[in-house]
Amino acid sequence: MLVLGIETSCDETAAAVVDEAGTIRSSVVSSQVDVHARYGGVVPELASRAHLALLPPVVGDALHGAGLGAEPGRAPVDVVAATVGPGLVGALLVGSSLAKGLAMAWEVPFVGVNHLEGHCFAALLDHLELRWPVVVVLVSGGHTMLLAMDGPGRYRLLGQTLDDAAGEAFDKVARFLGLGYPGGPAIERTAKAGDPTAFAFPRALLDQGFDLSFSGLKTAVVRAVRARPDASDADVAASFQQAVVDVLVAKGLRAAEAVGASGICLAGGVAANGALRAAFADACAAKGLALAVPSRAMCTDNAAMVAAAGAWQLTHLGPSPLDQPAEPGAGLPLERVLARA
Ligand code: ATP
Ligand code: MG
Ligand code: FE
Repeated sequence: MLVLGIETSCDETAAAVVDEAGTIRSSVVSSQVDVHARYGGVVPELASRAHLALLPPVVGDALHGAGLGAEPGRAPVDVVAATVGPGLVGALLVGSSLAKGLAMAWEVPFVGVNHLEGHCFAALLDHLELRWPVVVVLVSGGHTMLLAMDGPGRYRLLGQTLDDAAGEAFDKVARFLGLGYPGGPAIERTAKAGDPTAFAFPRALLDQGFDLSFSGLKTAVVRAVRARPDASDADVAASFQQAVVDVLVAKGLRAAEAVGASGICLAGGVAANGALRAAFADACAAKGLALAVPSRAMCTDNAAMVAAAGAWQLTHLGPSPLDQPAEPGAGLPLERVLARA
């Protein structure tokens, strides 16, 4: 089975071909960073328009890269999967509408994928040997969740952020420091030359439960910089990054212990962060836990993860209706993904 995956939930225009074994035959990601950088964040209407222009060639490149041609009367793939939410509604509509159109034209099934479930599958692509349950630390631009995963498609929400997502905190602090957009990579670069103990930033809810909070940390950074305008960006970035890492590692380990997990999966854009990856590697090694970390390119938005989730979904839950709406809201992961627990 060959799956064409399409991802347009935010500001990455992506298409990929993945087979049923989870082997990535091609993965093309066209970032819109240049479109949005001068506004300091993603402008939804510009994102929709950019997807509209970029998606057809990106899909063409993904098919071509997988050695698939568009022969008349013959479908190049067996299923077309696209992200249907959560995300920007206009952006979601561009990707899911093209996916439905291709599925209709090729007479193959369409599968609407939850973007967050896609992020979870990114960790599985290279780590199919995991013993369940595992804890997924899902840290992205719009979400921060601790999930117990009892197998593909089986999730229990243990806790989530009460305010900002981890990636959002990186983006806001980077913007405040004038480091540019997107903030995560900029903070990571700047932090390399800094002292992570220079500032004692708060670690909210560190010893309590599985929920998280990052808005107080962001405010603490702003206050600290205003109080010490001479402080180096590197020290501020390193201390901020360390606070985020400490909280995520502590919570991830506590969750793993609570559910008797064999290991931890990292997922989402913030999982591309080198300090976070290194801290989880040390902590999991010390506790005898397995650690599944996607390659950096599979942490941030891509369509291979959508195709992989789509393959599983088609096999286990069947195709989605062609009138499947785009579901931008944050309610979708709770209703759709987590109801399968
Ligand atoms: P969601 O998946 O919640 O809908 P999204 O798709 O916009 O949101 P992702 O693409 O998964 O989010 O991740 C983007 C986020 O990851 C941004 O906030 C970005 O700053 C952050 N990020 C990317 N690389 C790094 C890094 N190296 N260090 C820290 N954060 C990073
Ligand atoms: Mg993005
Ligand atoms: Fe994402």
